[in-house]
Amino acid sequence: MGLYHLGIDSTDSPKGGCTTWTFVRVLQKLYQEDHTITFHGYPRLIRLNPNIPHRTRGNAALSVSFSSDSDQAKLFEIVKEIVLRDFEEYSVDDGKFPGIVILSDNEFKLLKSDLGADFYNSTLQHLIKIDNSRISDLATIYGKEGIVGALGSIMADLENDYTHELLAYRKKAKFNTIRKIDIDNLIEVADNHSSSFSSYDPVSKRELICPSGPDPIFLGIRGDDPRELIDFYDNLEIEEKLDYWMIFISNQGTNQHVMKMQSKIKLNSVVSTMATVSKDPVEFRGGHVKLELQINGYFIDCMVFEPTKQLRNAARELIEGDRIYIHGAISSNEFGEYISLEYMYIVDQLDKFNKLPPVCENCNDRMTSAGKLSGYKCKKCSQRSYKSIREKIDRKLIVGQRVYASHSAQRHLTRPLIRLNTRNELINEKLIISDFSNI
Ligand SMILES: [Zn+2]
Repeated sequence: MGLYHLGIDSTDSPKGGCTTWTFVRVLQKLYQEDHTITFHGYPRLIRLNPNIPHRTRGNAALSVSFSSDSDQAKLFEIVKEIVLRDFEEYSVDDGKFPGIVILSDNEFKLLKSDLGADFYNSTLQHLIKIDNSRISDLATIYGKEGIVGALGSIMADLENDYTHELLAYRKKAKFNTIRKIDIDNLIEVADNHSSSFSSYDPVSKRELICPSGPDPIFLGIRGDDPRELIDFYDNLEIEEKLDYWMIFISNQGTNQHVMKMQSKIKLNSVVSTMATVSKDPVEFRGGHVKLELQINGYFIDCMVFEPTKQLRNAARELIEGDRIYIHGAISSNEFGEYISLEYMYIVDQLDKFNKLPPVCENCNDRMTSAGKLSGYKCKKCSQRSYKSIREKIDRKLIVGQRVYASHSAQRHLTRPLIRLNTRNELINEKLIISDFSNI
């Protein structure tokens, strides 16, 4: 019996399809065709670098490990047939190709040492290309860029933290139709399942479990405890008859993509670092806010976009000299590189003052401006003064406060507030899957 590792990436497109959906059907087909197959652990839903340009919808790659008596080449053909069929149905001529990788355990170990222990981290943080002769020697590999994602998913390290997601799929007749979910029911169920997260936005009361595109997913429920996810799903009142569901293990909500700030900023990477506000916020059309930050001695713009809502509101309250711990992606536009803020922690804030006219010593009334460069004047007794007073005003931010982007603007990989102190350590988990015979 051989141990194998299967990874796929990029079978979706803006036209439809979904790599997770293809993957579930690949598992189903393997299960039907190969009676010797045993899956090990949950299938992995791995989010890769969310900041790579031109990647649609979350950049997810899927993988699973299994044992089988079957021939590796035969297994590969089964997988390839389904992946390519979906790819043909949904591809839009954008030069993107899916990636398929099946490695024997031996090949996996050799490749892992070839690519280096840091390979998975690189797929999270950078845009990488593989130039490796060992890969071109492998018969059970297909695709171009997609291979990187497929390998990244196979080599994902979830030892120190992971989460789960239950994905439920629609029947084909319902694709491209509106998803209906009862928000009151969702909020009640979500609040009763404390290990779930990012199911709805507590501020706007918007649901966050249904995607909006043409893809086959009806909903995805994220959380720490897979058993709770099933109960969550069972308690939802959903009118639409769904096809099937599967639970994945994932790096979502773990902050695994975050790198400590290095001396040199790398475009498309996500950074976490201390920063000092070096210019007061400026408001832009559309409700966006721009700050300038000083980080390790150099200056960089920081954009806080309108959809981040409460984070944007908090950014407006910052003043020059405030110290914040920030988390955001390095992006660029025609003006240069900037940080797109996703989270901040108020480390230290300066006192903020208002300049006010002085109070008249005779009448105890507030003076008024006597005109440009003319100081102040008392309306009653005409006493003059040139000295304004500074009045300390309350800061709306609090030292120690954590401010996140609104739930809908948060990225898949970003650790949500509810998981601040949660880490799951990987033990041998059994595969919980819906009954394959129903798929
Ligand atoms: Zn007076």
